[in-house]
Amino acid sequence: MTELCNAHTHLELSDLGRVCPQTPTSFPNWVGGLVWSVRNRKLEQYRAAVMLGIEALQACGTSHVHDITNTWVSVEPLLNSGLQGCVYLEVLGQKRERGLERLKEATGRITDLRRAHAGNPMRVGLSLHSTWSCHPDMLRQGAEWCRENKVPLCIHVAESPAETEMLLTGGVKELGWIRTQIGRSLSMLPMSAPRLRPVPYLAVLGVLDARPLLVHAVQVDDEEIDTLARARCAVVHCPRSNALLSCGRMRLEAFLAAEVPVYLGTDSRASSPDLDIRAEAAAAKRMQTGKVDAEKIDAMLAPLNSEP
Ligand SMILES: [Zn+2]
Repeated sequence: MTELCNAHTHLELSDLGRVCPQTPTSFPNWVGGLVWSVRNRKLEQYRAAVMLGIEALQACGTSHVHDITNTWVSVEPLLNSGLQGCVYLEVLGQKRERGLERLKEATGRITDLRRAHAGNPMRVGLSLHSTWSCHPDMLRQGAEWCRENKVPLCIHVAESPAETEMLLTGGVKELGWIRTQIGRSLSMLPMSAPRLRPVPYLAVLGVLDARPLLVHAVQVDDEEIDTLARARCAVVHCPRSNALLSCGRMRLEAFLAAEVPVYLGTDSRASSPDLDIRAEAAAAKRMQTGKVDAEKIDAMLAPLNSEP
């Protein structure tokens, strides 16, 4: 295959292999460790990590990448890398006013970048970080803006059992040391709960109308898979990250049966042993043995064709 797509990365974390668990840990525990390890990080460190990440992608023959950048420093290096795909400027925030302000800043920057780099094979999009880390008005307005302006949108959704618990109850029992170590700087704190599971929550907010690229989609039932199929959303499967963060096995066979397009992503070096998408495919084959044929998993290495 000449084209090889890694559909989910965070290249600005490519130097954080030390944060990647050696054996499975819980998602809240991992988030706590990650936030702690980047607490004093400088933008130059993020920039250097992006360059490391781009080198790693090119070294294993990757032609396409879909990268999320929380600091927005990945944008310029990726636009200049010759790689194809999309770089998504990420926003998050549980506080409404601050979150919407950040969203406005992002949409302005994305508009400028898309105008200045219209012919670039690397597109520029928006990432609303996740269901639990963005105020509902950010999710609603961000998705609406993407839909109206035909801008690619990417969201982490239905990743961990903790996410579902948070949305249903407003809190996560297993915060323990995380809260005492990190306190208010960690967004994973009790919020006003929509009392909906992740996929129905996005559907009710109208987010699925923007046909976002949905990352993980592990904690889903059959009805929710049907919802995603009807919304014509694509999903990204990151099996090694899911295993290391105890998120469970994605029901790949059910997504394929519902004809939902599925792609493979490594996720960041903070939750993946490397950025080699062929190694991810090999892991997917091991984890999905008896459920999904190997050739079907190989087909998930192709570039995305479901653009908004
Ligand atoms: Zn991710």
